[in-house]
Amino acid sequence: MFMHNKRLQYTVRVSEPNPKLACMLLEQFGGADGELAAAMRYFTQGLGEDDAGRKDMLLDIATEELSHLEVIGSIVAMLNKGAKAQLSEAQADEAELYAMVGQSGTSAKEALLFGCGPALIDSAGVPWTAAYVDSRSEPTVDLRSNIAAEARAKIVYERLINITDDPGIKEALGFLMTREIAHQKSFEKALYAIDENFPSGKLPGMEEYASLYVNSSQGIGDVDGPWNSGPNWDRDDGPTPALDGGPGTATVAMDADDEELAEALILRTQSATSGDPITGADLGAGPGAGRTTELG
Ligand code: MN
Ligand code: MN
Repeated sequence: MFMHNKRLQYTVRVSEPNPKLACMLLEQFGGADGELAAAMRYFTQGLGEDDAGRKDMLLDIATEELSHLEVIGSIVAMLNKGAKAQLSEAQADEAELYAMVGQSGTSAKEALLFGCGPALIDSAGVPWTAAYVDSRSEPTVDLRSNIAAEARAKIVYERLINITDDPGIKEALGFLMTREIAHQKSFEKALYAIDENFPSGKLPGMEEYASLYVNSSQGIGDVDGPWNSGPNWDRDDGPTPALDGGPGTATVAMDADDEELAEALILRTQSATSGDPITGADLGAGPGAGRTTELG
């Protein structure tokens, strides 16, 4: 069950209304790396988790992310409070209200459609979607994705902090950014608390390919480093198709009926390699068409 405590996890002090900044902060409210995406990611993972430690951690962090959703949504609401009142009460003249709403396409949508409420959209007005959650119900996969999700959230907060000169917002965003660092650390520790966490899943890789680096892009710009050279790596600078030593072709065994039909399809759509048919490009050719087939 959930209980709600009316106090925020971190105090929000906004110096003055700013609808344009509110739109930008929506990125962390209803955006791909925002707090709702984080909360739903960890909440659903927690429900499906059987390991007591991971379940506890996921539900703790999911609930904290909801608290962050509340903090960022409250900042958005404060930044929009003036615009919301102006738009609802229409005390200013049309030109003033028009200028206030029309800062950008997104702020117009925020004002006109959502009435300056904290909408579940990103900074470009795109509605939140469950497609932002990429859980696969395998802890060595999901923990890695969670680590990356926290790293992404951290960097988006960093950018928002860099464009804000409001000291109270800077401070609250700094808190939210810092919590993503702490969450990343928890997920890293939880990943390495699984004794054998690489590769993901149960099946081992094929020994002869697991340490093979294929230098597939060759020429100026080839760089050697620990990711492709040294004692951990075999190299294929060929590159050599097919790596298994086979002919590198694709075949399938079919029954006689399918075989016959497949052959008929190939024959029906076969390319003629001789002859030079006149086409629409020849018939309509004008200056710049290049060489065309002689019209008879
Ligand atoms: Mn968060
Ligand atoms: Mn987080």
